[in-house]
Amino acid sequence: MLKKDSWDEKQENIGLARTLAAFLNVDFQPRVEVEDVSTIDGFREEHPDFFPQGWLEYEPTYAGGSFRKQWQIAHQFLREAWQSRFEIELYDYLKILQSIFNPDHLPALDPQWNGPHYRRWMGPPYRPAFADMWDMLWERDQTKPPYYLAIKFLSGNGWMAHVCELCGRYFVREHSQTTYCSYGGVTAIDGTQQKCAVAFRMKYIKDHWNDNKEEVNAGRRDDYADAKQKSVRDRKNGKGTRERKRRKR
Ligand SMILES: [Zn+2]
Repeated sequence: MLKKDSWDEKQENIGLARTLAAFLNVDFQPRVEVEDVSTIDGFREEHPDFFPQGWLEYEPTYAGGSFRKQWQIAHQFLREAWQSRFEIELYDYLKILQSIFNPDHLPALDPQWNGPHYRRWMGPPYRPAFADMWDMLWERDQTKPPYYLAIKFLSGNGWMAHVCELCGRYFVREHSQTTYCSYGGVTAIDGTQQKCAVAFRMKYIKDHWNDNKEEVNAGRRDDYADAKQKSVRDRKNGKGTRERKRRKR
């Protein structure tokens, strides 16, 4: 049995992992019709202290691909890690951790290195997409930031990182058999907003009915024909006629 303290700690970590899932669900392209898609502004408002200050607004000089913002880089890395249940290479952990930092702590942005004198010779300030190890150590020594604790927890509990098998959203599961999220807001077959498990069950029944309608109806026709033939046969064999005979007497 877990001690009270470690139980509390686990609940806290699960809460942080849920916040990380909420971050991954930002700009999510749902597989099924979902009520609303969360935005980075909504996430920032709800969880202002989850990532280092200034990080969500930071734009690196080059973010790669079609990305512009720093958070989109880590977003992609973290989605990949989540999909692999955090069974990833140590390099991938480095990629994630070094892409999340407080921009104010980057030496490259320090006025001492980036002042007018420097800029005259070196051009516009360079804004890196990865913190170097000195920045990392600085950050780590100050506090254990929430995002860091969430990643650390999931690295040892990867099975809890799950992608909903109906809508595809990222969620934290507490039982290994859970396959659907409980975010809700999924439009079920009858147009109502449901949780994924309920929506799936309703859709399954409908699909199952459509797929098998012909078969089921054919079966019913056969049953009906059988019943009819049987009653004809019974009459020929004299069954069911006792009543009539009795009445004749
Ligand atoms: Zn779902």
